[in-house]
Amino acid sequence: RERVAPMAKEAEAPATSVTFTHRDRVYWPEAGVTKQGLADYYTMVWPWIEKYLLGRPLVLLRCPNGIVQGGFFQKHPWAGIDPHILQIHDPHEKEPILGIDSFDGLMALVQSAALEIHPWGARSDDLDHPDRLIFDLDPGEGVAFAEIIAAAKEVRRRLAEAKLKSFVKTTGGKGLHVVAPLTPRATWTVAKDFCRALADSMAHDAPQLYTATATKTQRPKRIYIDYLRNARGATAVAPYSTRARPPAGISTPLTWDELDSVVSGSQFTIGNFSKRLQHLAKDPWDGFFRLRQSLPGK
Ligand code: ATP
Ligand code: MN
Ligand code: MN
Repeated sequence: RERVAPMAKEAEAPATSVTFTHRDRVYWPEAGVTKQGLADYYTMVWPWIEKYLLGRPLVLLRCPNGIVQGGFFQKHPWAGIDPHILQIHDPHEKEPILGIDSFDGLMALVQSAALEIHPWGARSDDLDHPDRLIFDLDPGEGVAFAEIIAAAKEVRRRLAEAKLKSFVKTTGGKGLHVVAPLTPRATWTVAKDFCRALADSMAHDAPQLYTATATKTQRPKRIYIDYLRNARGATAVAPYSTRARPPAGISTPLTWDELDSVVSGSQFTIGNFSKRLQHLAKDPWDGFFRLRQSLPGK
């Protein structure tokens, strides 16, 4: 099986001391990706993904027998967990939550069959103050991708009115996520109220296009502006994470300028990602962590 080519421009990922078993285990049968293929993918994207993973709690979608058998969300340590995976104390929980602080940590996630990595919107050292907002745009049946793009631009426009710059990524699945970094100052309650108000205003102004209500029956032909990712302990898939569905999509950061040329939430995959990286001089979200911005009045 063809290995993913290593990146040319960035420093190569370090070798790992994680012990791998069953390297030939097939995780994505249709795409033909094995555990080794997943390790190769994350080795390639390590310089791109590390800043979105390190120092924050992670929830893992683990599929030990691949995507066909399905998996489970893992929030807490398990028997035999690799020592490269951090165990973080959360005063709200009896059991520790999970994190990584190194490339070995990421490789340990691969060995643990974590086929999706879902970070919190807060850092491990400040669990009570979100450092990003996220709007998860969920299309109902019969919504064209161009309409999801328009929704993302509308979220961006409304955030800009609140003096918040935002970034867009594919989910690797059906939709798009719009993300705004925050200086961690406001509480989760304040952040969620802000996001709900933005979602409600979009649904109010264009009820034929948008809904801010999770009820499925409300959704055909409309886009659900899911603001519920903005709560303590809620997660969203990480930039550059794989998805445990066909066609092995990657949640892919985009520039706003290239968004119009994207045709699907799963356009970028493990199989074609090295080609995308070859044409990128820098992360489309360059500057994400340098922005200093806060919610209005905070
Ligand atoms: P798509 O574009 O296909 O909607 P998505 O990642 O936005 O992809 P959603 O179904 O909208 O998928 O779910 C949003 C997020 O909710 C997921 O990425 C995940 O982080 C979180 N999530 C959903 N179910 C669970 C769960 N049982 N435990 C933990 N997190 C979950
Ligand atoms: Mn979604
Ligand atoms: Mn959702």
